Amino acid sequence: MASALARPLARLIDELGKLPGIGPKTAQRLAYFILRSPADDATALASAIRAVKEELRYCSICFNIAEDDPCEVCRADDRDSTLVCVVEEPLDVLAVERTGGYRGRYHVLHGAISPVNGVRPDDLKIAPLAARVRKGGIREVILATNPNLEGEATAMYIAQLLNGSGAQVTRLARGLPVGGDLEYTDEVTLSRALEGRRAVS
Ligand SMILES: [Zn+2]
Repeated sequence: MASALARPLARLIDELGKLPGIGPKTAQRLAYFILRSPADDATALASAIRAVKEELRYCSICFNIAEDDPCEVCRADDRDSTLVCVVEEPLDVLAVERTGGYRGRYHVLHGAISPVNGVRPDDLKIAPLAARVRKGGIREVILATNPNLEGEATAMYIAQLLNGSGAQVTRLARGLPVGGDLEYTDEVTLSRALEGRRAVS
């Protein structure tokens, strides 16, 4: 079947099909759409894909995705550096930023502990967080991991790890949809959960 296709087109379908949620049919549709679109549009798409790999890096302090290291949030001196909000994914940083009420810094774990999926604490940016807190100057660590099994387990693990570190450890208030994802929580609910955070341990 694929042999009837011109090779560059088959290659594009193949690559698009590797994207999450894109089945063979959708991959074909997208490939033909790109084929028919103006050359400028296709070039812009290709260069945007290249740019995310070439121009982005991880901030060495908070591990968010950034253009510069340290990132803008870690460099900003109008943000409270004694307050660190711990999230699972870079998109969760955007969710907290959307509330407009948080002026501290972040730490991105890049996942959550999940024995079922074979994700161990060492696979996440937990050790750098502990090191960051032990260095001092952090008054409060807000655990804003997702309100699901993995997120709770991760929060508990970090709370224990930071026990005695001198920083107060808090967790987002209940009221977030259980089993949900921070990324998809609306601003009002997330604002309330942040304001109502409680001390853990
Ligand atoms: Zn940073």
